[in-house]
Parts: sequence; C-alpha cells; structure tokens
Amino acid sequence: DIVPFGVVTLTFPPLAATAGAHLFERTPSTGIAASGGKVRVTTPKGTISAEKCLIAVNAYGGKLEPVSAAHIMPIGSFIGATVPLGSSSNVLPGGESVDDSRFVVRYFRRSKDGRLLFGGREVYAVNDPKDIHIHIRRQIAELYPALKDVEITHGWGGYVGITMPRKPFVREVMPNVISVGGYSGHGVMLSNFFGKLYAETVAGNRDRLKLIEDLKIPAFPGGRRFRAPLLFLALNWFALRDRI
Ligand SMILES: Cc1cc2nc3c(=O)[nH]c(=O)nc-3n(C[C@H](O)[C@H](O)[C@H](O)COP(=O)(O)OP(=O)(O)OC[C@H]3O[C@@H](n4cnc5c(N)ncnc54)[C@H](O)[C@@H]3O)c2cc1C
Repeated sequence: DIVPFGVVTLTFPPLAATAGAHLFERTPSTGIAASGGKVRVTTPKGTISAEKCLIAVNAYGGKLEPVSAAHIMPIGSFIGATVPLGSSSNVLPGGESVDDSRFVVRYFRRSKDGRLLFGGREVYAVNDPKDIHIHIRRQIAELYPALKDVEITHGWGGYVGITMPRKPFVREVMPNVISVGGYSGHGVMLSNFFGKLYAETVAGNRDRLKLIEDLKIPAFPGGRRFRAPLLFLALNWFALRDRI
C-alpha cells in the first residue's frame, strides 16, 4: 500500500478507490518510522504498514517529520471577494489577470459575476485569519482608492509551503519514505506533476524525480525552536521593503 497522505481531494478518492487504493480519510498520520524494509505510519485509529511512503502534506507537516519541517515553512495566504462591482466599474475593464513584482505578491482579477477577487496578504506565522476582510480591503484601497469601503463578501485562505530559495523540496527522508512539497506558491500544477513523478519512481524509473531531488534546498536556519520567529523577522523585512 502507498499511504495517500495528501492526495485525498473531492476528485481523487473515487478514481483512486476504483483503481484499488485503500483510503483512510479523517485519519491524520501522527508519526512515521522505517525499519527492516517496512514503513510504519501511526494514526489515532491504528498503524499502517507499507513498503513505500509518500509524505505530501506540504505546509501542514510541522509535527510529522523533522527533515521536511526544517525545509518547508507554512505561510498563511488569503484571498477576498468583493460584491459584484457592476458593468460600469473601471476596475480591470478588459478582464485582465494581474500579479505584481512585490516580494509579498498581490494577484487579482474579476470573476464572471463582476466581483474583484484579490489575493495578497501573506502572514509569516500560523494564526487565526479572522481579519482577512480588513487586510484585503486595505490592500485593494491602495490600488483602487474608490473601493476603500467596498464590501468583502467572502474571504478564505490556507497555508502555502515555502522553501528558502522558493524552489520545491523533494527528498528521501528515511529509507523508502519520500517527502515532496515546498512549491512556494506554485503547487496547483507542481503537486500534481510531482505525483506523476512519484508514480514513475514507484514503477521503477526515478530519473525525473531525481532531477528535483538534486536541487540544493537548504534548511531554514534557527533549528526547531527559532526557525519560525527568524522567518517571521526576515520576511517582514522584505515586506517592509515593498512599501519603501
Ligand atoms: C489562498 C491560497 C492561494 C493559492 N494560490 C495558488 C495559485 O494561484 N497557484 C498555485 O499554484 N498555488 C496556489 N496556492 C498553493 C496551493 O494551494 C498548494 O501549493 C497546493 O495545494 C499544494 O498541494 P498539496 O497536495 O501538496 O498540498 P495540500 O493541498 O495542502 O494538501 C495537503 C493535504 O494533507 C493533509 N494533511 C495534513 N496533515 C496531515 C497528516 N498529518 N496526515 C494526513 N494528512 C494530512 C491535509 O488535510 C491536506 O488534504 C495557494 C494557496 C493558498 C492558501
């Protein structure tokens, strides 16, 4: 069995189950150990034994496996949707999609029903994103002052896994345990592609995955204790430089 850590989405379970995979939903892995040619993954409901294991929890693996946690850090990223702005609005009248060249990237476009979808807030520590609306509206107003009081009807977010050089991290962290992640904002495409490369590896051809494994991805400095506060300081410094 290959433990399907992070590949369980609304689309994949039926396909995977049809192909014979055993899915253990709502079953977080709490520990991974490799010995005697076997991998053992512990969960609150029992232990899974496998020959190979793929860790694909990306930004959410802080407590699961220390090597991955040292190389992949979670950054909160948030998006807000305004009320429909109406066809007379001069915001992106040509339906353009925009992102900018700041360190904390802002990206936005109009939805089919005329809302402004605006992503831009990054948070360098795990905390409660309940103030998404306020921060997103403030950022929108910097670009479109006329929208300073616009109603934000929806806000959502999650954690993006980043690495020091913002390139993906792939490593065999224990015998037959491969960890992938740290897509640094490009994981929609890369996570799927790396799934394909991992499938090739299991089928006996590791050549393409090896190219990514060979990327030099350093660990974040500071060790387990100081890694998060150091990153917080460093990234806030870059965010400050965006404003001056
Ligand atoms: C607001 C926002 C906007 C984004 N925009 C873009 C974009 O425009 N383009 C882009 O390419 N990327 C974007 N991303 C990043 C993208 O969402 C991720 O890179 C991508 O989802 C990574 O896929 P993944 O399957 O590796 O990890 P995830 O989709 O994060 O899936 C990880 C899975 O692991 C599960 N899990 C966690 N811990 C455990 C555990 N202990 N045991 C078992 N399972 C566990 C989780 O429940 C989850 O299902 C954005 C992210 C956010 C938050």
